[in-house]
Amino acid sequence: MTSIATPLAAGRRAASAYTLPPLKFGYGDLSPIIDEKTLRLHHSLHHQAHIDALNSVLQPYPEWQGMTIEDLLRSLNDVPEAIRADVRNFGGGVANHQFFWKILSPWTSKEPSGDLAQALRRDFGSVDAFRREFEAAGLRHFGSGWVFLVANPAADFKLEVVALPNEDSVLNIGRMGLLTCDLWEHAYCLNYQSRRQAWLHAWWQIVDWETVALRFDKFRAGHRQA
Ligand code: MN
Repeated sequence: MTSIATPLAAGRRAASAYTLPPLKFGYGDLSPIIDEKTLRLHHSLHHQAHIDALNSVLQPYPEWQGMTIEDLLRSLNDVPEAIRADVRNFGGGVANHQFFWKILSPWTSKEPSGDLAQALRRDFGSVDAFRREFEAAGLRHFGSGWVFLVANPAADFKLEVVALPNEDSVLNIGRMGLLTCDLWEHAYCLNYQSRRQAWLHAWWQIVDWETVALRFDKFRAGHRQA
């Protein structure tokens, strides 16, 4: 393993390392749905810890550095076996949290509109039926994980609700993520204790539907990330 004390390794690492993306809102702006302390810890400690761990895991593998986190996870099955589980966990943690912050906003329109609303009605019957299915999937999921609304590019961008364990990413199962909610207790236990249902139900109030609709449009237009 190369020492990170050499200028070459240090330079290479600095050029390719993942960094914590800033939030588009302040730590107190999602309160009371997400209280300030929870958001601060979740972003500056939990998300940062996944980034630091992933950078450290990839440090001896320069050929796997410098990719977008999305491309890295899509290539997970080709990642060297020695680091595949770590990339799955820490890389998934980086991608899931980055995605989560993007689809939240304190200035939200509360309801989906346009093509996205139409697709939700087509695939779930109604927007409310979609919300019920999403909450039920999140509640039913045992242990830590994430619940997602995804589009399936292999099936004409049909919308689906999936829950995945730990820090698994929808990128590794060939889906494009439109919306996600964190089911780990660190996401909600200060405010909601163990009441995951209350968290899932309150959380809709900070969903940034405009960003979700934009992701849907970009994926259908052929973009691989949004
Ligand atoms: Mn989390």
